[in-house]
Amino acid sequence: MKATTYGFPIELTLELADEKNIKVDLEDFHKKMKEHQELSRTASAGMFKGGLANHNEKTVRLHTAHHLLLAALQKVVSPDIKQRGSNITEERLRIDFVCDHKLTDEEKKKVEDLVNEKIKEHLNVVRREMPLAEAEKIGAQMEFGAKYPEIVSVYFIEDEKGSLFSKEFCGGPHVSNTSELSHFKIQKEEAVAQGIRRIKAVLE
Ligand SMILES: [Zn+2]
Repeated sequence: MKATTYGFPIELTLELADEKNIKVDLEDFHKKMKEHQELSRTASAGMFKGGLANHNEKTVRLHTAHHLLLAALQKVVSPDIKQRGSNITEERLRIDFVCDHKLTDEEKKKVEDLVNEKIKEHLNVVRREMPLAEAEKIGAQMEFGAKYPEIVSVYFIEDEKGSLFSKEFCGGPHVSNTSELSHFKIQKEEAVAQGIRRIKAVLE
């Protein structure tokens, strides 16, 4: 029984089951409920670890832009770019990533332009839960060194036809459509360690 998936109150389920003479496995129901709650807790714990200071509108918008930025870096600069850290406040987002060189002005401009293009395309931000193995198989971005539960939450940023721009392991929250973001701008790009670069960016 997938009680939480259908969002059907247990009392009503029991009543209906009684009418139809069906036995409802209450023990199984409570077990599934508990699993679901634990998963939700893990997901939100993961989110705070992911660098979100709080849940207000500004940080949620910047966090969504962070997904677009990582995907844009991989498309413009190198598919090997991996996230190594993230920190988001109300004012700006910050991403640390593995990269062997200082970004050129041209690369920064192309990354900015691509993020802004995706904002203007009004892409949907969609959450899907799936087994960890499946998420790894489809190549969803995960943070290096992070521990993930068996069932993970993956955020897809895609157009109406399902054409995908970004897929990332994440607990959220995000805006539901990139049209909610304003103009994206990179403020700073610098080295933080050997082979690790840092970008600070804002939504103007
Ligand atoms: Zn996210």
